[in-house]
Amino acid sequence: MKRFMMFVFIITLISVLAIAQGYVKNVILLIGDGMGINQVLLSSYIEGRVLNMMKAPYTGYVITYSANSNVTDSAAAGTALASGFKTNNGFIGVLPDGTPVPTIAEIAASKGINTGIVVTCRVTHATPGAFYGHTNDRNAELVLAEQLVESPLKVVFGGGWSYFLPDTKGGRRKDGKDLIELAKNKGFDYITTKTELLNYDGERVLGLFASSHMSAVTERKPEEPLLPEMTKKALEILSKDGKPFFLMVEGSQIDWECHGNDIFGVWKETIEFDDAVKVALDFAEKNPDTLVVVTADHETGGLGLSTGNYTFDIEKIRNYKKTADWIAANWDKKSPDELKELVKEYFNVEFTDDEVEYVIAEAGKSRYGAGNAIGRLLSNKAQIGWTTFDHTGATVPVFAFGPGAENFTGILDNTEIPRIIGRLAGYPLTYPVHSVPLVGTH
Ligand SMILES: [Zn+2]
Repeated sequence: MKRFMMFVFIITLISVLAIAQGYVKNVILLIGDGMGINQVLLSSYIEGRVLNMMKAPYTGYVITYSANSNVTDSAAAGTALASGFKTNNGFIGVLPDGTPVPTIAEIAASKGINTGIVVTCRVTHATPGAFYGHTNDRNAELVLAEQLVESPLKVVFGGGWSYFLPDTKGGRRKDGKDLIELAKNKGFDYITTKTELLNYDGERVLGLFASSHMSAVTERKPEEPLLPEMTKKALEILSKDGKPFFLMVEGSQIDWECHGNDIFGVWKETIEFDDAVKVALDFAEKNPDTLVVVTADHETGGLGLSTGNYTFDIEKIRNYKKTADWIAANWDKKSPDELKELVKEYFNVEFTDDEVEYVIAEAGKSRYGAGNAIGRLLSNKAQIGWTTFDHTGATVPVFAFGPGAENFTGILDNTEIPRIIGRLAGYPLTYPVHSVPLVGTH
C-alpha cells in the first residue's frame, strides 16, 4: 500500500511538473481568414466588450508575405501556417518548385496524435486543404477531396459534399468516384446535419453540412451547425481516448465579408469565430496542458477605422441588420427605388441617386459588383474605410494562451507559427527552412 501511494505521488508530481514546465499535450490553432487587428477591434467596439481572443496573456504580430508576392493568398498563407514554408500564391502543401512538404497535422498523426479540422467553407478550400493536401493548384478541389479521404484526419467538419460525390448521385464529380463510400470504408462515419452532429459520439467522422460552402453565419440554415458547436464536438471526439490532439479551426468567411467591404458581415463572422475561441479556452481551462493559438492567414480589405474628422460611427453600425450580399441578392436591380427602400429598412441609411447609380454600374461589372459597392457605401456611411476589395500585406495578430504561449510574442514570420507549435508539442517540423527573401527588398 505504502509503495502504491509512493507511486501515485510520483506520477502526480511528474504531471504537475510537466504542466509547470509548459508541457503541451493538446494544440488548438484557430485561424481567422482575412482577420486583421482592425477587424478584431471594430467587432469589439460594436459588441461593446473585450473579445475572448483579446484576453490573451501573450500577443504578437505575424508577417504574411508569400514566396512570390508581398500580398499572399490563403493557399500560400495556409501552407506557411501548416507546413512552415513560404510558397507561391495558389500553391497548397508544396514548395514553389512543386516539392510536397509535410503538414504539422500529418507529422502529428505520424506520431499517433489525433488530428482534426473544422471550417465553415468547403473542406477542400485553401486553408483547410493546407493541413492535409498537396497540389500546386488550389482550385483542384476534386483532387483535394481524394487527398482528404486518404489523410489520417480523425475529425473533418465543414461544407462541400458535392466534391465527394459523382454527378450520378447529385455531386459534381465526373469521374464516377463516390468518396463518401470510400471514406466510410476507411473508417469515417458520415454526417450531414446539425442534429446528427450534436448526437454524434463516435471516434472518426466526416461531417459535411452543405453541398458547397456553408451559409454565412447571418443566414446559416437550421440544420447547418455554428462554428462553436462544431468546435465543441471536435474537441469532445479528439480528447475522448486521452491521446494528445491537434485541431485547426477556421473562421473561413471573415475574409469574404472583407472582400465585400461589408462591416456588418465582418462583425458577425468575427464574433462567430470568437465564440469558437471561447469554446477552445473553456476546454483549455479544464485541460491546462492545452496550447491555444489564435491568428489569421492575412488581412483582407485594408480596413481603416475612420475616413476622417477623428471619428467613426459605431452606433450606426449597430443598427445594421443584413449583409450587403443579402441586399444585392434580394434587390431587383431594375428598381433603383427598391434599393433605397431596402437600405433604409435594414440599415436606416439614405442612398443618394449618385450612390444608387454607382451600385447599378458596379452590378453590371461582376458577380460581386453590387454587393461590394453596397458594402463599401455602408462602410463609408459609418466613416469606416477600406483600401481594396482584395488582400493586403498588413501584419495580422497572434493571440496565445496556455503552456508555451510566451513564445508567440514580438514580430513573427507566419512560417514560424507551426514550427514553434511543433517544438512545444513534441512533433517538430524538422525539414529545413528555405529562407525566402522579402519580395522587393533584395
Ligand atoms: Zn481572401
